[in-house]
Amino acid sequence: MSDLGRVQPWSDAEVAARELERRLSLKVMRNEPLAGHTTMRVGGPADLLVTIRDRFALRGIVRLAAARGWPLRILGRGSNVVVGDHGLRGIVALNRSAGYELDPVQGTVSFDSGIPMAKASTIAADAGLTGLEFALAIPGNIGGAIWANAGAHGGDMAGITQSITLLRADGSEGEITAPEAQFGYRDSRFKRPEGRGEVILGATVYLRAGAPDVIKERLEEIRRWRREHQPLGVPSAGSVFRNPPNQLSAGALLDAAGVKGLRIGGAEVSTMHANWILNRGGATAADIKALHDACRDAVLAHNGIALETEIAFIGEFAR
Ligand SMILES: Cc1cc2nc3c(=O)[nH]c(=O)nc-3n(C[C@H](O)[C@H](O)[C@H](O)COP(=O)(O)OP(=O)(O)OC[C@H]3O[C@@H](n4cnc5c(N)ncnc54)[C@H](O)[C@@H]3O)c2cc1C
Repeated sequence: MSDLGRVQPWSDAEVAARELERRLSLKVMRNEPLAGHTTMRVGGPADLLVTIRDRFALRGIVRLAAARGWPLRILGRGSNVVVGDHGLRGIVALNRSAGYELDPVQGTVSFDSGIPMAKASTIAADAGLTGLEFALAIPGNIGGAIWANAGAHGGDMAGITQSITLLRADGSEGEITAPEAQFGYRDSRFKRPEGRGEVILGATVYLRAGAPDVIKERLEEIRRWRREHQPLGVPSAGSVFRNPPNQLSAGALLDAAGVKGLRIGGAEVSTMHANWILNRGGATAADIKALHDACRDAVLAHNGIALETEIAFIGEFAR
């Protein structure tokens, strides 16, 4: 995964498309708008877009792209990214590799990285295992959740991950333990230079036996909390800024800075939760970036705190 910020059209696109079709039997979409593949519903085209259905294909595309030097970006559900209006150069692979293996005796589940968090949560609940309820309302994949150390309702991936299977930039496959993943608050090695170019194939999580009615009640509670506290049903990428250490939450700081309801083009700061930017219809990625900058500047001016961005702006924002 490299060099996705180039402005020149990708000259290898047609050669790559034919090789992906021939060698990996993938259906290749050319100049496919990414707005339809992200929860924020913005973003220009990927030169090539493919959907990966299993680990075999995921390994195949990563190794082929590495061997040919093709730029490749793995996307899960696109729920933590804002793709620039001029799109992404190279290949975008939507990861839908969704196998899993349950070991009820050990209390572990090994998930492929393309399985949605909500599905993973339900699989665990149905097996009478507790610890993955927090994943229910996180609209990403296991792979994206490992990348971000996603968490909610007192749980996160760091707290349940036993091991991660990955493909290194040189194409070799390996397994790392949770400490080697260097999890932090919404952070992991995959966001840092040492983990760039590594692709998460799957993760094994360890859970505990739980009473089915208690698990069910917890899932209901999470559903209720989300409905009451978050602006669901409108395109967004969840929380925009990280909570600063030892301070008020980013949402409280943004609220105090008066940004709720602020609007640029089709992008609006939610009036329900000041740390969410919504696409109210027709927003561009540039609108969202400009509103993000305005929010960050408002908090800095109001109380001198420099908020850090949680969502990832990827691809080309201007030519
Ligand atoms: C409505 C809403 C609610 C949300 N609530 C929460 C919440 O409660 N808690 C929370 O933590 N987050 C939350 N999020 C943010 C988001 O859902 C999580 O960060 C999620 O884990 C992202 O997963 P994804 O599959 O969508 O990743 P994507 O957005 O597709 O990708 C994110 C990054 O991960 C990389 N990546 C993805 N898959 C792989 C892989 N297999 N190998 C290597 N790199 C990979 C991508 O290249 C990209 O850089 C919310 C978002 C929305 C829209």
